[in-house]
Amino acid sequence: MAANILVVGSLNMDLLIRVNELPKKGETLLGGPITEIPGGKGANQAVAISKMNTSVGILGSIGKDSYGNALLKSLEDHKVGTRYISRSDNKTGTAIVIVDEKGSNQIVVSPGANLDLTPELVFKNKKAIEEADIVVMQLEIPLETVHFTLELAKKMDKITILNPAPAIKLSEDILKNVDILIPNEHELKLLSNNWIEGAFNDPIKASCEELLEKKVKTIIVTLGEKGCFLMNGMDEQTFPAYKVDAVDTTGAGECFIGGFTSTYLKTMDLHDSIQSAIKASAISVTRSGAQNAMPTQKEVETFLC
Ligand code: ADP
Repeated sequence: MAANILVVGSLNMDLLIRVNELPKKGETLLGGPITEIPGGKGANQAVAISKMNTSVGILGSIGKDSYGNALLKSLEDHKVGTRYISRSDNKTGTAIVIVDEKGSNQIVVSPGANLDLTPELVFKNKKAIEEADIVVMQLEIPLETVHFTLELAKKMDKITILNPAPAIKLSEDILKNVDILIPNEHELKLLSNNWIEGAFNDPIKASCEELLEKKVKTIIVTLGEKGCFLMNGMDEQTFPAYKVDAVDTTGAGECFIGGFTSTYLKTMDLHDSIQSAIKASAISVTRSGAQNAMPTQKEVETFLC
C-alpha cells in the first residue's frame, strides 16, 4: 500500500553507554552495558507518525549488516513502510551516546550508509515521492540530497516539511522549496542573519521574517517547555506547551513533527496540527527514550480530556 507521508532521511543504531560522569579529554572510563537503540532523526520521525495511526514510509539507506537488519525489523514492528530503504556496502549509520547520571550526554554520529542516500538514489526511488502527499526531511543525509528531494517533491506538487536538524546554514535555493519549516530555537538562530538579542528586538520574530522573505511559506519554531511560535504571511501566534513533569526530552522535536504531520495530512489545518504536536511531544517528555516514548494517537486524543 502507498504511504501518505514519506520521510526521506536518516536511520541510525544508537549505542548507549551510561557513566557516572562524562569523560574528560584523554580520559578512559568504565561504563555500564551497551544498549542498542534504533534511532536516527528520519526513523524516529517515521515511527512518531506511524504511532499516530498514519500511513508512513521511509526512503533511506542502511548497511547490509546486523544493525541494518535490526533497524528494518524495528521499523516493520512499528508499521513503517520499508520498501524504499536501500542496502549499501557502507556500514549502517551508528551513534555513540554517552549519558551521565544527571542525563547530560555526549554524542558522536558516524553517518555511514546514510551518506549513500544520494540524489541518484532518490531519483531511482521517485515513485515513493509520487505516491506520497507530504514529504518530511531533516539534515542527517547529504545536503545535495535534501536540495534535490525538496525540489523534486515541489515539482510533483507535494507538501514539503523540513526539520533543519542538526543545525546548519541553508541556502535560499533549499529554503524556497520548503512549505513548512520546523526548527528549534538553536536551529533558527543558525539559519538566520537577523538573530540579534536586545531589549527592543524579538530575535525569533526577526529571524522568521527573514526566512519568510527567503520564500519559506510557514515557520513553526519549537521552544521547548515554552511551546512553539507560528509565523506565515497571514498568521503570527505563540502556542504554550502543556505543563508536565518532564523526565527526558530526547526526541521531543521528532515527536512534535510526528504529531504535526499526521494531523496536517488529515485536516490541512495548522492550528489543529500544532495542538496535536504539542500534546504528543508533552506526553513524550514524561517518558524516557525516543521511539518507545512516542505516544499513540489514542493517547494524544485523550490527553487532558
Ligand atoms: P528539540 O527536541 O528539537 O530541541 P524542543 O526542545 O523545542 O525541540 O521541543 C519540541 C516540542 O516539545 C516543544 O515545542 C514542546 O511542545 C514540547 N516540549 C519540549 N520540552 C517540553 C517540556 N519540558 N514540557 C512540555 N512540552 C515540552
